[in-house]
Amino acid sequence: MIVTRFAPSPTGRLHVGNIRTALHNWMWAKRQGGRFLLRLDDTDAERSTAENAAAIRADLGWLGLVAETEAKQSDRFALYERRFEALRAKGRVYPCYESAEELELKRRILAGRGLPPIYDRAALNLGDAERAALEAEGRRPHWRFLLDHDSPIAWDDLIRGPQHLDPRLLSDPVIRRADGSWLYMLPSAIDDIDMGISHVVRGEDHVTNTGLQLQMFAALDAPTPAFAHEALLVGSEGKLSKRLGSLGCDAFRADGIEPIALIALLARIGTSLPVEPVADIAPLIESFDFARFGRAPARFDLDELKALNARIIHMLGYDAVADRLPAGMDAAAWAAIRPNLERIDQAQDWWAVVEGEVAATIAAEDRDYLAAAAALAADADWHDAIWKTLTAALGAETGRKGKALFLPLRLALTGREHGPDMNALLPLIGKDRAVGRLRAAAA
Ligand code: GLU
Repeated sequence: MIVTRFAPSPTGRLHVGNIRTALHNWMWAKRQGGRFLLRLDDTDAERSTAENAAAIRADLGWLGLVAETEAKQSDRFALYERRFEALRAKGRVYPCYESAEELELKRRILAGRGLPPIYDRAALNLGDAERAALEAEGRRPHWRFLLDHDSPIAWDDLIRGPQHLDPRLLSDPVIRRADGSWLYMLPSAIDDIDMGISHVVRGEDHVTNTGLQLQMFAALDAPTPAFAHEALLVGSEGKLSKRLGSLGCDAFRADGIEPIALIALLARIGTSLPVEPVADIAPLIESFDFARFGRAPARFDLDELKALNARIIHMLGYDAVADRLPAGMDAAAWAAIRPNLERIDQAQDWWAVVEGEVAATIAAEDRDYLAAAAALAADADWHDAIWKTLTAALGAETGRKGKALFLPLRLALTGREHGPDMNALLPLIGKDRAVGRLRAAAA
């Protein structure tokens, strides 16, 4: 059974980077007929809020990345406590008493000797009497996980290929603070085991964590999931800027971005597959494959997203958008107006051009021409090809052609110099309005 999870901390809103991670977890589960879980990593009680959790849920809902199950770590402390006790009984966690200042001093001494900042395990050598003395001073221990220096760490990453880490070059990670609260590392491994996670898909900033957590899986006698660490997302300027780091679903919605456009982009950037406009997610899921992911950072470009969004809108069928269109706008109107939209709410503006009042500034030399157009339009049989009929007759009558023939008509009929194909638009405007507009422009 394929089970993936998206595990954000509800200490803020989702940004485009973690939306991408959520998407890939969701897609992999979909592709394999598996399950996708949402796990809120809310062990940081001070910074985690219910509002952020609700916003994360709402964002995933907007994107259509629905989780079959949701869990939050703050409900699961009893389990962590049991596993912690089991590790303690095995001697795989140990209490440490160094203050932050003492640890910093150790790091500085190592750095001065040109050595990496690896914790020296001094606390491991404390005797009972020494520990008792420290506790008598009022010190409470924090806890570290004891890495097994004799078990080399290796896994075959689905994106990065074979990975090797030497546990001797890593510090025993702190897993629990002196106040009893949990750091990210151990609860996450416990949950991945308990929830039967088959694939952990996350950013490459977690590669070292994976090395540490692999030893936790082993210490907890659990099989390990598969891992896929994706290269990080960067902006068009080549780094994850502050702006990109705060770019979330609210901003995309405000920009008129459709969820499918964001998904189409985030599914493909950083992979060897091209970014393509799609009206439906199915082909993206079918082609989703970690083997296609590259090691270079994925470049996110807001302008590329906007252009893709427009191309996707031009493909969307009437049924997909009907409930967001102005009242009265039917399938024919959508087909006429769609090619001119960069965002769906602009349909409103074009519908106003069809139905509402238009005002145009007409050059004096075009007035007689438009009066002739009004007369022809009033006499014409109104049908679907009326634009062709009308302009052909006007061309024959006045000798005008090209821009001189078409532009004054477009201006008089729509109030604008550019817009949807007049072949499609004029039947929507209809005879009465068209004749009225042409007469008004001629006056
Ligand atoms: N809460 C962690 C984070 O947001 C989860 C990482 C993971 O996927 O294990 O970085």
